[in-house]
Amino acid sequence: MTDRPEVGDAPGAELLELIRELYPFCRSITGVGLRETLAVLGRYLPLELHEVPSGTPVLDWVVPKEWNIRDAWIKDAAGRRVVDFRASNLHVVNYSVPVAGRFLLSALRPRLHTLPRQPDAIPYRTAYYEETWGFCLSQRQLDALPEGEYDICIDSTLAPGALTYGELLLPGESSEEILISAHVCHPSLCDDNLSGVAVALLLARELSQLPRRRYSLRFLFAPGTIGAITWLARNQTSASRIKHGLTLTCLGDGHPFTFKRTFAGNNEIDRVAALVLKASGYEHQSIDFFPYGYDERQYNSPGFRLPVASLMRGRHGQFPEYHTSLDNPSFVSADRLAESYRVLRDIIDALQGNDRYVNLQPFAEPQLGKRGLYRAVGGSGLPGLQLAMLWVLSMSDGRHSLLDVAERSGLGWAEIIMAAKLLIEHQLLARASEAQQPPSNLLGSTRS
Ligand code: ZN
Repeated sequence: MTDRPEVGDAPGAELLELIRELYPFCRSITGVGLRETLAVLGRYLPLELHEVPSGTPVLDWVVPKEWNIRDAWIKDAAGRRVVDFRASNLHVVNYSVPVAGRFLLSALRPRLHTLPRQPDAIPYRTAYYEETWGFCLSQRQLDALPEGEYDICIDSTLAPGALTYGELLLPGESSEEILISAHVCHPSLCDDNLSGVAVALLLARELSQLPRRRYSLRFLFAPGTIGAITWLARNQTSASRIKHGLTLTCLGDGHPFTFKRTFAGNNEIDRVAALVLKASGYEHQSIDFFPYGYDERQYNSPGFRLPVASLMRGRHGQFPEYHTSLDNPSFVSADRLAESYRVLRDIIDALQGNDRYVNLQPFAEPQLGKRGLYRAVGGSGLPGLQLAMLWVLSMSDGRHSLLDVAERSGLGWAEIIMAAKLLIEHQLLARASEAQQPPSNLLGSTRS
């Protein structure tokens, strides 16, 4: 194991504890498990809950019937549960219609899903949009079943109800928003996506305590695909307030970070994340947008084109534990969750802090020594700070943002932010939007 940077005050242990609490719930895209999950999240923050009735048209889709399940089993001739929903809710194909009866194993086989190449893992399967049923079990469990008759039962209901989602808006000085979106529909799986849900929630709690926020922050906890589509349908015109966004998934595993860019690939969120991940010291890769995965594909669709990227560690679909019973509480760790939390917090901090400034002494270099700025640099512990001040002064003409400064200078974000802060304190810099009278030459005047 290589040395990893400190994760500071990120609440790794608390994230893991929350994941363990939510792990047993049988979540789906609708139903009691989803509501109970949102109720737990509501203990931390006052989530606004929405119930959208089954049958409601949402863009090109329709909110489905609500699914609930109490129990399910396959019993052998002796009446023993050889497959038991109470042992793992992954044992039932999610959204299975109710069924009960006696079947020969040979007749049951097409309904039994296994992973032959991972003989100890139970697969996670869904059937949201076709009325069918099935069981999932490990290959080893299946291999141990003798031919013969089995009693089966899926005690579920599929009936008109509602789709539930939760959201939280933390107002900022601007009505423009940063969206953090985490799908909350998977049953007993941890990395995908209790990790994303937990990181989003506890970060929202921290950010809710800030005395001021520039952008407003919107946190959305909705079932995958249909939940995001429902939200977009109900916010079709106001969605354009979202200026930056991230979907979160798979943030607790031991893989390097994966950043999936927005459709355009060069939005501010793409640039900020590249900077933060580089500065973090964590191993990472950035990949281009593609139109599958999680809800970034809804947000980036041509009608919306919202600049929503995706932050993950392991890339969904590309590690063996993904969508299996191996994605359990032992697959995620407090340390990796804390790292993800810190990276996400740094990305949001950078978005909030990235603004355009004007140098208030733009005619040649201001004399830093007489203002005590060299002493301030010496005490900062940031070796690049002096250089960062020169870069910020040089580029702050009202047209370049601090992100531009960081990219062009190659200096770290921490140095750039600290340099701007010091220069503001010493009346050498002001926010472009607040500077009263920019010097005339900054306006492109040729007056001499
Ligand atoms: Zn998934």
